[in-house]
Amino acid sequence: MTTIGFIGLGHMGGPMAKNLRAAGHEVRGFDLSPAALDAARAAGIDVVASAAEAVMGARVVITMLPAGRHVIDLYRGTDSDPGILGAASPDTLFIDSSTIAVDEARHAHELAVGAGHRSLDAPVSGGVVGAENGTLAFMVGGDERDFAQAVPLLETMGRRVVHCGGPGLGQAAKVCNNMLLAVSQIAVAEAFVLGERLGLSHQTLFDVASNATGQCWALSTNCPVPGPVPTSPANRDYQPGFAGALMSKDLGLAEQAIDLVGVDARMGRLAREMYLAYANGEGTDRDFSGIIQTIRAHSTSA
Ligand code: NAD
Repeated sequence: MTTIGFIGLGHMGGPMAKNLRAAGHEVRGFDLSPAALDAARAAGIDVVASAAEAVMGARVVITMLPAGRHVIDLYRGTDSDPGILGAASPDTLFIDSSTIAVDEARHAHELAVGAGHRSLDAPVSGGVVGAENGTLAFMVGGDERDFAQAVPLLETMGRRVVHCGGPGLGQAAKVCNNMLLAVSQIAVAEAFVLGERLGLSHQTLFDVASNATGQCWALSTNCPVPGPVPTSPANRDYQPGFAGALMSKDLGLAEQAIDLVGVDARMGRLAREMYLAYANGEGTDRDFSGIIQTIRAHSTSA
């Protein structure tokens, strides 16, 4: 049994903390939202009055927050508040599972180590359903020894736990994967709209491409047209799944990384542009595969 401070009990953090509690760990949870605290309390989590209180006496601290600035601010605190790094016992293991920029993750790691702690970046994929079912995939960056300590806890919340390398490389794996996914989802959508215009049925294109070199997850699992894959979001009017707003956020982080290291990633940048427009318009809370409707709407008739 490990005493865990868990900060950020939202859509993802709430069920993750619940799974840790169900596995017998002592979980001291905190969130700024009263509704999140109520749900956590109902799940048996020991809800406390502040982030500092959540980390006091904890061996491991897990954060699941909206963005990098929340993590850094919480770690560092302010002039009058020592932050959670200052409130925790020496040599606490900090695991940040929020999706944040690679350079922010490295900064968070430096802050934690500078304060006498250990730290891992451990972003996830698998969404709310994965968080609820304990089937998330964790991509972890940080020291091998710290990773080994974290694995049993991460396996309580997830099905796959991969050590990607040193600090920040968990986030690096996440942005690279999501950029690849975004580009392939757009390409699959364009192929279906082109096929429609050429008179090809959805099922025929699916049968050909999913057994040929066009095969990919965006086609064979997240097929953007209704019919060929009955479980894909297209069959439920693009209810997520993975919302366009979240894809847009992750591509913003990918673009930050592209700029950081100067890669000629034109497809990634274009995907960012398309998903930003989608998220600010019709795709805010629709699955990212629904971008096919935007592509169809923007296509001129010959
Ligand atoms: P969410 O908005 O539901 O939850 C975040 C929670 O953090 C909120 O309850 C908020 O009140 C709390 N919070 C913010 N600042 C705080 C602070 N200083 N102290 C305490 N609590 C604070 O978001 P979510 O969907 O749970 O996502 C969390 C992270 O996981 C994000 O970084 C997101 O990109 C990532 N993620 C989300 C999904 C998904 O499908 N939702 C999938 C993969 C990764």
